[in-house]
Formats: sequence, C-alpha cells, structure tokens
Amino acid sequence: MHGVGFATISSLIAGSKQALSVHDRLRLDSFMIGLQILASGSAANCSVVGDVNSSLLIDIGLGVREMQNRLAATGFESSSIKAAVLTHTHTDHWKPASLNWLAKNGARLWCHAAHVDQISPTTKGLESLLNQGLVSFFQDGTPFRPIPSWTFTPIRVSHDAEPTFGFRFEREASSGRKKGAMAYLADLGTATDSLPWEMLHDLDGLALESNHDPDMLESSNRPHHLIRRIRGNNGHLSNQQCGEAAARLVRQSSGRLKSMVLLHLSRECNTAQLAKDASIKALKGLVDPKHLHVADQHAPTKPVIFTHSC
Ligand SMILES: [Zn+2]
Ligand SMILES: [Zn+2]
Repeated sequence: MHGVGFATISSLIAGSKQALSVHDRLRLDSFMIGLQILASGSAANCSVVGDVNSSLLIDIGLGVREMQNRLAATGFESSSIKAAVLTHTHTDHWKPASLNWLAKNGARLWCHAAHVDQISPTTKGLESLLNQGLVSFFQDGTPFRPIPSWTFTPIRVSHDAEPTFGFRFEREASSGRKKGAMAYLADLGTATDSLPWEMLHDLDGLALESNHDPDMLESSNRPHHLIRRIRGNNGHLSNQQCGEAAARLVRQSSGRLKSMVLLHLSRECNTAQLAKDASIKALKGLVDPKHLHVADQHAPTKPVIFTHSC
C-alpha cells in the first residue's frame, strides 16, 4: 500500500542497498525534500522548503557566505532558490546583504506590506527588489503559491514584532508525488486560544518553537524586563508550552504527524536535551523520539522529507 510517510535522509540512506549520495537521492522524484532548517535560534534563522530544483527560504537571517555554505552542504544550488518568505522583521530573521543576494539572484520576496516600512524601502537590497518588481505581499490567512507545487498560508501569531507570521505549507499532489502539509511556527509568543488551531489540522510534519527552559530563564543574568518579555504572551514559547502545543497539533492530525523539529532555542536559557525531553514528555509516545529533531544555530538540522512508503 502506498502512502505518505516521513523519514530523515539519514534513515533513508541507512535503509538503501545502493550507496547514493545525499544529493543524488534528493534528485530522485520520490525523495522530495520538505523542510531543511539551515539555522534557527536568536542569532539567525533560515530554512529551505521545496526540492533541489525549485525551493524557497523561510527567513533570511544568515549572512550570505554562511547561507551559501549551508545550502551547498545540504545539496542545494543557490540558483534553485526562487523566493523567500519573511516571518517578521526582527533582525535575526533578515539581513540587508541577504535581501541583496535575493535581488541579484532574481528571487522574489514574499512579506506582509507592513514589513517593507519596518525594514525601510531604502534599505539597499529591498530597494533593489522593489525596483525589479520582485516583492509580493501576503495577507493573514490567504494562501499564496510562491513556488510551483507549494502553497503557503500565513498564520498571524502574537510575537512582539507586529505583524509576525507562521506558515502552513502544503505540497500539491502531482504525478508520482503525494500531497502533504507541514507547519513552521517560530517566534510565537503564545500558543493558547489566540492561535488559529483550525488552520493547523492534518499536518505531516511540524517545526515549532521551543525557546527556553523557564528555570534557566529566571536564573539567567538577563534584566528583569527582558525575562518578562520573553516569557510573556508576545515573546517566545517555553519548552513546556511547545510540548503542549505539539501534543495538541499531533492529536488534530489524525495520526499523520510523525516528524517534528524544535526551533529557536535560546543560547543562554535552554539546552537541546531539555527541549527534547520536555517535548518527549508532553507527546507521550505520539511521536517517535528518533523523529524529534532539535534545530541548531550553528549547523543545518536533519531534513524532514516526504517519501512514499510501500
Ligand atoms: Zn527570532
Ligand atoms: Zn522575533
């Protein structure tokens, strides 16, 4: 029986009889990439969605050289990047040089109209994109199609760079490729009733913020106003809040959601182990811990890809 399943590239390779390179494997139609985190954390955020022929970036917070190095290390040609979508304008999510890189490559920037003013239309890279007609605006809750076969729906969240968005993204079915849906939600603020849960049903994969351990945050040397901001409803999700939200999303995904990446860990107030342990505890076996990954600031994370299970 054919269906859509999830596997990391490493597990696919481990199960393969032939020693194909990662790049060769990604070129096979049936091994199409879903989400590759290049960097996630309070210093820089950048991820790739799509496949090796046509892909886009979610956020462009890495410097250009580092972004290119990480794209190359994960099997992507810079020329395959056709667009970038922006979650919000905190400077760990975009860089002037990265906007310039998009403009030079003829790649389209998708953002909210308010983001242009926040960045400033005279910022060199943004000005160049605007002059070339390479800026498109999305609206909260309205699906758009930034690259072929992929539909994105912006989901407004309560983080304190208004407006901030997460995304539901779906790969359309085509010959030999099954439909699938994922969500990318970082810089959340809160995941209570203000989140439009109904837009986040039936996911196959999830990337969700797990920013801080509350005890480490409280005992950190950070000023009290910053601690209040981070733990408040317009700041960042704690490990426990992440676990609770993940469990709810897994439950409303009818058994489809089997793979997850934890995003935007605080360098000073979290560890990968604490984040992972909190989600494992909250998920109570709903997601196999070996398919629960923790995104890194300094290196690409294992990708989550769609594959046909037989
Ligand atoms: Zn951020
Ligand atoms: Zn932010």
